[in-house]
Amino acid sequence: MTQKEWRFCPDCGSPLEWGALAGAERQLCYSPGCGFVRWDNPLPVVAAVIECVDQGGAILLARNHAWPELMFALVTGFLEKGESPDDAVAREVKEEVNLDTESVSLLGVYPFFRKNEILIGYHVKARGEIRLNEELAEFRLVRPEQLRPWPQATGQAVRDWMLREGLPLPEVVEGNLYAHADI
Ligand SMILES: [Zn+2]
Repeated sequence: MTQKEWRFCPDCGSPLEWGALAGAERQLCYSPGCGFVRWDNPLPVVAAVIECVDQGGAILLARNHAWPELMFALVTGFLEKGESPDDAVAREVKEEVNLDTESVSLLGVYPFFRKNEILIGYHVKARGEIRLNEELAEFRLVRPEQLRPWPQATGQAVRDWMLREGLPLPEVVEGNLYAHADI
């Protein structure tokens, strides 16, 4: 259980109770004729290693307003209903940093247990004028060889991109400049 506990059944409004079902403790509705189960499955999230092709191939990292100073990570976002992950990551890149995507390539799929999410990591080649939306406080353009992949969450996609590019992986240091806020 990683998300906030629910108090009421979203189907019938009765109070939910904890009970064992299919091998785990889950929130259940015992109201007659309802039978709602909160499965609490992980939510898919797309994440982009953005290569700015018109900025000499620099990688764009962004800092969310909610994160501490000097913590930068990948642009991420949820999928819209009926949207493919490939389309979602290009849309999020446009919405959050105003860049136009030229190509997307899947890097890997990674667990993010603390937030009960599954991260779908992409390498995104993009270009244009960087303009941040209201979610983001600031950004950094980082030379690929200067990336320091943090061990959790979207850092896993950065690591796999560096391996794919043949870049040497630096020693991972907790709390370094380009660390993720969820460390
Ligand atoms: Zn119910």
